[in-house]
Amino acid sequence: MHRLSSHQVLRRYKITSLFIVLMFLSLPLAVGCFLYGWYANDAVWMRNAGIFLAAGLVLKVLAFMIGERLKCPLCMATPLRSLGCAKHRSAQALYGSHKLAVATSVLFEGNFRCPYCGETTGMHVRERSSRSDLR
Ligand SMILES: [Zn+2]
Repeated sequence: MHRLSSHQVLRRYKITSLFIVLMFLSLPLAVGCFLYGWYANDAVWMRNAGIFLAAGLVLKVLAFMIGERLKCPLCMATPLRSLGCAKHRSAQALYGSHKLAVATSVLFEGNFRCPYCGETTGMHVRERSSRSDLR
């Protein structure tokens, strides 16, 4: 199992994963509020649908800004961003999204499997050997 390079990278993985999961939750909530508001002819539900949709867009922008340079420690691809490249044969998608599968795995399992190289990376920071240990 591979490890991350620093605590900052670990924190960015977790924050970006949280934003991605919330972003994927906001779309069905917006659609549900819109449909109920349309059915009940209620402007409050329609406004809530707009709020969920706007929140989803804001979360998408934040996830892109924070996570655009997060790389897999082995293949240096970006597992939380779709590259359009061929995926590993054992890569699993959640609701059709490899990004969502990686984000839920980071949040709930404490590791993720890179969709591009197929290697598992733990949400742990790599230990560094100090120069005094080398003597
Ligand atoms: Zn990789």
